[in-house]
Amino acid sequence: MNKRIVILGGGESGVGSAVLAKQKGFNVFLSDQSLLKEKYKTQLIEENILFEEGKHIEENIFNADEVIKSPGIPDQSDLIQKLISKSIPVISEIEFAGRYTNAKKICITGSNGKTTTALLTYHILKNAGYHVGLGGNIGKSFAMQVARENYDYYVLELSSFQLDGMFDFVADVAILLNITPDHLDRYDYKFENYIKSKFKITQNQTNKNYFVYCADDIAIQAYMEEHNIAAEKIPFSIKKTINVPGAYLTNNQIILNYKLNQEPLIMTIEQLALQGKHNVYNSMAASLASRIVDVRKENIRESLQDFHNAEHRLEFVASINGIEFINDSKATNVNSTWYALESMEKPIVWICGGQDKGNNYNELTELVKSRVKAIICLGKDNSKIINAFKGLVETIIETDTATDAVAASCKIGKKGDVVLLSPACASFDLYENYEDRGMQFKAAVRRL
Ligand code: ADP
Repeated sequence: MNKRIVILGGGESGVGSAVLAKQKGFNVFLSDQSLLKEKYKTQLIEENILFEEGKHIEENIFNADEVIKSPGIPDQSDLIQKLISKSIPVISEIEFAGRYTNAKKICITGSNGKTTTALLTYHILKNAGYHVGLGGNIGKSFAMQVARENYDYYVLELSSFQLDGMFDFVADVAILLNITPDHLDRYDYKFENYIKSKFKITQNQTNKNYFVYCADDIAIQAYMEEHNIAAEKIPFSIKKTINVPGAYLTNNQIILNYKLNQEPLIMTIEQLALQGKHNVYNSMAASLASRIVDVRKENIRESLQDFHNAEHRLEFVASINGIEFINDSKATNVNSTWYALESMEKPIVWICGGQDKGNNYNELTELVKSRVKAIICLGKDNSKIINAFKGLVETIIETDTATDAVAASCKIGKKGDVVLLSPACASFDLYENYEDRGMQFKAAVRRL
C-alpha cells in the first residue's frame, strides 16, 4: 500500500504539501481544526485530495506513516504529543519539499529581519537573471513551487517553528541574522531552547555549504564558541573589521569581501535603499549570500539601491504639516523597536503597545530618554509600558483605536517631529494581525 501522509493545517504550506505529496503518489489526507479558506478548498477538491475541516478526527490521523505539520501548531499540543508518543514522524513542509528538489537553497532565519532579507536576496537574484523561487514563511508555498515549478534556486524564509520540523534538510547557504528572545512560550520559556532551534539551520551542513552569520550577536557568538559548525563560516559585522570572507562597516562604507585576491564590493550606506543599522546587517547578509552563488558585484550594487521593502516595516506613510508618519507595525518585539527608535533622526512621538510577550522594556530606556517626546499607548492593557516609562517621558496617553492614537499624536507632534508606530508587541489584543494594525494606522493618517 502507498505510504499515508497526513497534513495538519490547510493553509498555504499545508495545501502546497498536499499537492506535492499527491503528485509523488502518496495516499494523502489533510486535516484542519478550523474551516479552510475557499481558495484552498477548491484547490484540494480539484486535486482530488481528501480532507476534513473544523475538526481533527483521530482515526483519520493516527494511521499516518508520516505527518506534515503547519508551523502554527505548537509541538506541545495534545495531538502532536500523541503522534510523538506513537512514534509517527512529524515534519515540516520545508523538510518534505526539500526531498524533491535539487535546487540550491538559500535559507534565512533570525529573530528579526527574515522577511526583509529574504525579499532582498530574492530581488538581487531575480534582477541578476536567476531562475529563483521565494518561499517558506513568505509568499507561495515552497512545496507547491517544488510541485509546479522547476527553479534552480530558492530563497526560503524559515521561522524557528519550521526549523523544529526539519531533520535531514540541508541549507546550501544558511543565513542567521540575530537571536533575541521571542516566542519563548513555545520553548519552555528557555532562551537556550530557542537558540538551539535557530541553529538547526546549520544541521547537516558540510564544508561544501556556507553559514552567513552576524558576528556582533552575543547569543550567536556564545553558541559558536561551544559548538562546531561544519559549513564555511562567513561573518558580517558593523562593529569590527572582518577578514575575507565576510562583510563589515568602516567610515559608513560596507566592505564586502567574498574571495581572496578579488576586488571587494564597496558601498556607502547612503546608497542603500534600506536605511537604518538593522538594514545594514540585512543588506550585508543578502549580498554575501548572493556573492556565494556568484551574482556579480555590479548586479548586487544595483539591486541594493533600487529595492522596495514590504509594507509595515519602517514604512513611510505621509508627511502632514511637517510631521512625518512611519508605520512599523511589524515590530512585534522589543529588539525590532529598538532599531526603529535608533534609526529615527527627529524627535519621536512613539505609538506602542498591544499584546505583551513577556517584554523587557529596560532595553529601550536610553533611547526613549534621549529621543522620545511622548508615548501614545495603543493596547488593551498598557500598564507595563506606563510603569516602564513614567518619569522618563512627560506625556503618556492611552488609546485603543488607531484613529485616536493618530489624533493624539497630531495634537502633540510639531513640525520636524516623527510619529512612529513601532509597537514592540503582538497585535492580537485589538487587531486581527500586524497587517490589520498597520493598515488601520495608515488609513487614520490618510484621513487627516
Ligand atoms: P521577520 O520576518 O524576521 O519578522 P521583518 O523583515 O518582517 O522580520 O522585520 C520585522 C521587524 O524587525 C520590522 O519592524 C523591522 O524594521 C525590524 N528589523 C528588520 N531587520 C532587523 C534586524 N536585522 N534586526 C532587528 N530588527 C530588524
